[in-house]
Amino acid sequence: MLTCDSCYRGAALAEGRQARQSISAEGAPGSRQQPLDPNDPQSETTVIPGNPVGSNDSGAEPDKKWEHAGMLRRTFLRAAACLSAVSTLAVNQSRAAENPAAETKAIPAIPGPDQNTKTPVFKVPAGTVDTHTHIFGPAAEYPFSPTRPYTPPDAPLPMFRALHEKIGVHRAVIVNATLHGFDNRVVTDAIAQSGGNYKGIANINNGMSDADLAALEKAGIRGCRFAFLKRLGGVGDMNVFKRLVDRAAAIGWHVDVYLEPGSIREFIPILKALPTTYVIDHMGTIAAAKGLDDPEFKALLDLQKNDEKCWVKITGLERASASGAPFHDSVPFAKSLIDNAPDRVIWGTDWPHPNVKIMPNDGDLVDLIPLYAPEPAIQQKLLVDNPVRLFKF
Ligand SMILES: [Zn+2]
Repeated sequence: MLTCDSCYRGAALAEGRQARQSISAEGAPGSRQQPLDPNDPQSETTVIPGNPVGSNDSGAEPDKKWEHAGMLRRTFLRAAACLSAVSTLAVNQSRAAENPAAETKAIPAIPGPDQNTKTPVFKVPAGTVDTHTHIFGPAAEYPFSPTRPYTPPDAPLPMFRALHEKIGVHRAVIVNATLHGFDNRVVTDAIAQSGGNYKGIANINNGMSDADLAALEKAGIRGCRFAFLKRLGGVGDMNVFKRLVDRAAAIGWHVDVYLEPGSIREFIPILKALPTTYVIDHMGTIAAAKGLDDPEFKALLDLQKNDEKCWVKITGLERASASGAPFHDSVPFAKSLIDNAPDRVIWGTDWPHPNVKIMPNDGDLVDLIPLYAPEPAIQQKLLVDNPVRLFKF
């Protein structure tokens, strides 16, 4: 399942509608015709944003360092599963244009966040940065993509500020959401009004010029996000990803990587070959139920320990949890990752929590921090010093 935070189908359409439609015709039959399950734990996952089936680098020789033979290729093919999802959505959009009711039916509504945020017992240190957040709309001002995978209630800037006021956080990184796609204005406008307290992560594609990327950098964007989804099958072009990452690296950005659960080991060669810092979202989408000895989790720890480019987001404890609120079963995983590389971990809420099984209360999430990071010196790194360094506050 696709969804939340990073893929964008609207711009993808503008970029390569014809190509997508032809690919759609041969793959993933009907898979996007069904409403997404907002309770699907994987449904925050998205695709390589803008991975341009219609504007790719086909024909170019791949760089040697990207040629990790079969495994790498296979992984990219799987990652590019998203492409057929994108293409199918393109067809959906086309059908919706013929029959407006069809579009409404195909896009599920999801609930908004718990607005009764508890006042946490734990007081975060001054300068704490919430490094994984989204702003949704308002749709009247920042229209949602017609090909969005879900429709949330607006979660606009004033609500965003109220959340952070309640939990005592004043700095944040806004990750552009799927439904805003390659239109990054909802992020850059919030940054512009923040007095230096917000930075952002953009969705980019090869349709963007160097000047476009430079403008994003100037507006406070510090990285771009890629999500990988192998569920739907399909064929993609690894050169597209390579080219976007190289362009991101050239302007000093890091890349944000959202992996499908269970795919860490396959991605290790790709991640190690990246020419820039990368941040693994949501603790690698591990499942607490699998235990600390899960080979996937061990592989993540090993990667984090041995690759200086690897950072991990201590987010998504509610997604990893099997026991439910207040998600204590995820705490040992967060603690292991923090202890493993205390200078390369960052924290975030993931507000407004799209497509979660259990809607967390952000006050509860803040109160998990002293459980996985009991020492003030480590809290200072996790919450303040590390994100300040990574996002150049
Ligand atoms: Zn998110």
